[in-house]
Amino acid sequence: MFYFDPLYFVFAVPPLLLAMWAQWKVQSTFAKYARVPTRSGVNGIQTAQVLINRNGLSVGVTSVPGHLTDHYDPRSKTVALSQSSQQNSIASVAVVAHELGHALQDKENYGPLKLRGAIVPAVQLGGWVGPILFILGLMLASEPLMWVGVIGFGLAALFAIVTLPVEFDASRRALAMLQTNYLLTDQELRGAKQVLDAAALTYVAAAAQALTTLLYYITLMGRQRD
Ligand SMILES: [Zn+2]
Repeated sequence: MFYFDPLYFVFAVPPLLLAMWAQWKVQSTFAKYARVPTRSGVNGIQTAQVLINRNGLSVGVTSVPGHLTDHYDPRSKTVALSQSSQQNSIASVAVVAHELGHALQDKENYGPLKLRGAIVPAVQLGGWVGPILFILGLMLASEPLMWVGVIGFGLAALFAIVTLPVEFDASRRALAMLQTNYLLTDQELRGAKQVLDAAALTYVAAAAQALTTLLYYITLMGRQRD
């Protein structure tokens, strides 16, 4: 049953190319604006402090190793900033404001963020049990087992799709906060938007990959039935 399946490539290659392009786009856009200092002179750390104060957030700031590894952790209420995001550049300020956009979503109980948090345990379980059960179902020609597997993939796809409004909304909030707090000029904001749009593209690619994987497995099920 582990034969070369051309159909797999039809499903897998387009989202893979999109993911590679998105990766290139985010790396190159970040690199470009990481070299442009902000006119206000603020760095990433200061941006975090200003936005935490202005929005009345009770959020801690920590350091995280790696490149573009920045994230907001809703459980510990901390924003983890990578080394490059702590510098003075349009790219750092954009990334930091985006993470604080997530903190603001958390404070306001933004629906998609709550939903994403709620399905995380099921997604983690479904992510590794799903493929195993599906393949087992294929081998045993058991439709119920295959369905359980498909539900596992479905959860992963749901997670990737719910991530989209969460990420787009965080970037929208980020740009609004940078503007209202005069951290960036209008021209600098256009650069910040490019950085955040490129980052959003990686999430679009991840959702496309999750969806096409799900479709591929559903197609395999249909084939098995024939
Ligand atoms: Zn984000």
